[in-house]
Amino acid sequence: RTWTDQTSIIHEEPIRKVGIIGAGAMGAGIAQLVGYRGYDVVIKEINEAAAEAGRTRVNDLVNQLARHKKMNESTREQLLGRIRIVTEDEPLSDADLVIEAIVEKLDVKRSVFRALDRITTPETIFASNTSSLSVTDMATATQRGNLVAGLHFFNPVHKMELVEVVRAKETNDVTIARLVGFVRGLGKTPIVTADTPGFLVNRVLFPYLGEAVLMVAEGHSVANIDKEVRRFGMPMGPLELLDQVGLDVALHVSRSLESVLSGLCPVVDQLAIMVEDGLIGKKASAGFYWYL
Ligand code: NAD
Repeated sequence: RTWTDQTSIIHEEPIRKVGIIGAGAMGAGIAQLVGYRGYDVVIKEINEAAAEAGRTRVNDLVNQLARHKKMNESTREQLLGRIRIVTEDEPLSDADLVIEAIVEKLDVKRSVFRALDRITTPETIFASNTSSLSVTDMATATQRGNLVAGLHFFNPVHKMELVEVVRAKETNDVTIARLVGFVRGLGKTPIVTADTPGFLVNRVLFPYLGEAVLMVAEGHSVANIDKEVRRFGMPMGPLELLDQVGLDVALHVSRSLESVLSGLCPVVDQLAIMVEDGLIGKKASAGFYWYL
């Protein structure tokens, strides 16, 4: 099939209902965006307490968007009404696409995919928002490897322009085309990447971030490194960015990149020490900086 043929398939089979697994930082961010673009969204959480925390997160993000877009009250309520957070599987059964955004552990993601495989229609596309795990390793937990891909949104979802569409070993062209169309419909820019460590962006970004971490270990000042790099033209310095991303998330990504970038090993050691000490960045009010 040519690319044009696949585009016609997108018209025949539009994605209407989107399921999301996990209403954490990324799941809530994706729900805000997808709901805003008019899709019905159902998010599955692990228990009622996590669902309630997710509702607060989604409410805050929707309110932020409503202020920014100067929405009237009824538009804001309609948007909130399109996003449901549940703890049962059943509401996901008729989703056209399910995006997984849970804890970064392969065995947990595989078991979620295995369960989804049983409860959704055979045509439902499964996408993972993983930053550091192999999508191919998740796809083999299902009977529909051709319909499984990565959909890697960056944090914060509403600000970041790019979304990586990750082609796993068995992903078919139609699935890639439908996901590319879906990302475009969200007003974001898709890039199709291979299922290799760090995909495209993190593979390029992490050696740069890693050098900044090593310079801190060598005794350079955190604030000076960030200040000079900002002066060079970056919107924020590398250490501020690591605090924003979360050092725990960065440690996962760095570990996954060790096989392709041997020079990152000392960075992994440095990050592991900080994460062990609870210095995981902005979300814990302490990373390379204090957030008081
Ligand atoms: P998070 O810890 O904020 O949220 C994860 C959520 O998933 C939690 O609310 C948890 O209750 C829920 N959950 C866990 N297991 C579940 C299950 N079996 N079923 C349903 N819900 C479950 O995590 P996050 O930062 O949003 O990251 C989610 C995914 O996105 C990870 O794969 C991560 O690597 C990836 N990612 C994170 C970032 C980032 O900067 N935070 C960026 C890009 C990608």
